Parts: sequence; C-alpha cells; structure tokens
Amino acid sequence: MDGLVQYFILLGSVGIGYAIAYLQFNFKKFHYSSQEKLKEKLNLLFHLDDDREISKLLKSLEVSKDTFGIHLAVGGHYRKSGEVEKAIGLHQNLLGHPEIPSHIYGEVALELAKDYMAAGLLDRAEALLLKIMEQKEYRALAIPKLIDIYQQEKEWEKALKIVTSLDAKLVGSYHSRLAHFCCELAQFLIDRGEYYEAQQRIRASLDFDKGCVRAAFLLSDLNAKLKDFNSALTNLKKVMHADEAYAFDVANNVLQCVSFGLERDVALRFLQKMYNDHPKLGLIVGISELLGEMGREREAIDLLENHLKAYPRLFGLLQLAGFFHSHFPLTTSKVGVNERVLSDIVEVCGQIRSEISLYKCLCCGFEAKSLYWLCPSCRVWSSIKPVVDTPLLSKVAL
Ligand SMILES: [Zn+2]
Repeated sequence: MDGLVQYFILLGSVGIGYAIAYLQFNFKKFHYSSQEKLKEKLNLLFHLDDDREISKLLKSLEVSKDTFGIHLAVGGHYRKSGEVEKAIGLHQNLLGHPEIPSHIYGEVALELAKDYMAAGLLDRAEALLLKIMEQKEYRALAIPKLIDIYQQEKEWEKALKIVTSLDAKLVGSYHSRLAHFCCELAQFLIDRGEYYEAQQRIRASLDFDKGCVRAAFLLSDLNAKLKDFNSALTNLKKVMHADEAYAFDVANNVLQCVSFGLERDVALRFLQKMYNDHPKLGLIVGISELLGEMGREREAIDLLENHLKAYPRLFGLLQLAGFFHSHFPLTTSKVGVNERVLSDIVEVCGQIRSEISLYKCLCCGFEAKSLYWLCPSCRVWSSIKPVVDTPLLSKVAL
C-alpha cells in the first residue's frame, strides 16, 4: 500500500512539474509576442509621427526590466524629432530606476549623453561619458562622442589625453584627427611666438600622421619666420608630393617666404622646378606674381597664356585678365572701341576674381575664399581643397 501511495505521489509531482513548465513556456511565448506587437505599434506611431499616441502608450507602459528597450526606443525618437527635453526626462527616469539591469546601464547613459549634447549641455555630457568610459564594453562608443565635445570646445589637450590613454587598436582610427589637434596647438603657440614648443607639437602631429599636409605647412611657416628658407622650401616640396591640389597655397607660402627675406631668384627657381614636376595653375600664378614683381611682365603673360592653352581653366583666365589689368592698364583717352570693350571685360574679370570661392569642401560642397582645415559645415577635417584647377565652371562659386 505504501508503495502505491509513493507511486501516486511521484506521478503527481511529475504532473505538477510538467504543468509549471508548460505554463512558463506559454507565458514566455505570450510575453515575447506582446513585446514584439508593442514594438510594431511603436514603429507605426514613429512612422506616423503621432506624438500624442506615443505619450499615451508610454504612460500605460510601466518601466520594468522587460520594457527598458521600448522606453529607450521612444527616447531616441524624441531626440531625433527635436524634443530633447522629453528625451532627457525619459532617459534620466530610466537611469534612476531601481530595476535597471547593470548590462544596459551603459546603453541608457550613452543615450542620455547624446541628449545632453543635442541640448548643448556639453559639461553634463562630458561628465556622463567619462563615467561610461569606466565600462570597457561601452568605451569604443563613448570615445567618439567625447572627442566631438572636446573638438567643439577646442579642448585639444583633453582630446589627445583621452585618446592616447586607449589601446593602440582604438587609437589607430583617430590618427588623422589627432594630427590636426596637435596642429591646432602648434598654431596657437606660433601665434604666441613660442616657436620651440610649436615645433614639438608639429613633430607630434607628424608622429600621428606622417603625411599630414597641414603639419608640413606649419613647419614651413615656422622655418620662414626663423629665416631657415631651405627647410621652408623642403617642407613645401613635401606638401606638393603629398597632395598637389594645394599648389595654390604652396605658391602663396613661397611668396610669404619672399616677404620674410627669401631672394626672389631662389623662390622663382623653386616654383619653376615644382611646376616642371607638377604643372598646376596655382604654381604658375605664383610664378607670374614673382615675375611681375621683378619687372618681367611679358614673360609672366606668356607663361599664363601657354598654361591656359594647355589647361583651360576659369580661374586661370581671370588671373590672366587681372594680371593684364594691373600691369598694362588701358587709358580711355587714347583707345578705340575694341580696346574699351577689352578694358571692360578685363575689369569685370577682376571683379569676378575677387568674389570667386577658391576652396570647396569635397564632402558637403561648402565654399570658402580661404582655406579651412575643419569644414565649418560638415565638421570633416581636411575635406576643403583649393578648386582653382577645377576645369568646370559649375564647380566654382560664381
Ligand atoms: Zn564640408
């Protein structure tokens, strides 16, 4: 009899165990499917941009470990649609919730940091991101945001410190930006006349990026100020080898060396040699300027004409007209109709030349009259290039 009772007890236990497992399985299934339905509904509401319905749904959905994901999605939606205050409130609420699982703390904190950045609360964002950095798995996500903040605030030292503290694998992807950060510091020191310290920064920049054109320009500028013209020209040569698109700026820097005391003949020979290797309009413009200063205007006109015939460019035509206008002015008293028309054309060309954008961002199309190393529009480094050699009229600002 005892054996029979034990048999029934055992059978009962198995049955109850099975029933519990069955219920748990179906609860999970139900739970999973209801979460999916909620996400689907949310996506539809996001798509319809129905803010009232989203708020209603959110209020009905208590914050719990099962609904964190949905709350995060709504927070992200608020930020993207410009409702940053709502996004901040929601993410702060999530972050302070007692049930927040440790593995998603970093994710929520990162979302809140993005909200702070969108609201311009950079100090708060920075403090939060530094805290997030303590969690190894979120470090790679927090770093770009921190660098963006330091870049906005021009805190170059802080940016360098934070990135160089990382392992080499992560630092690698920031080399080009780090080189520019060093150049920013070097430019600041050059402006203050602290040349030795500036040189150290430029060297550091080249350590990050050997081909950094900006560092070579800065070194050349520094050399010229110290009247070490050989080194200045060597660095400009490096620029031409690295990226001949900067020919116009190289020529300008050579002219700057002349203003610091470099002999015109030496400058001319350097530019002519550069032009033989890189037949760019920017260099011929520099050569013609020098020839004009040396009283060899006819040679300058011939060179500009020959270059234009080989490489017809709008900027070259305007340059030729401008050069002609300033060196061979036509006086209206002794000219006929033909010369008067020519004089008018030349004058208009001069006006266009002064209004033309010489630089353009290759990423976003932003146009400028002077060179920016960081595009003010799309915030990309080294994306702005001279367009004087651009063959099509549509690619320059008119
Ligand atoms: Zn741009």
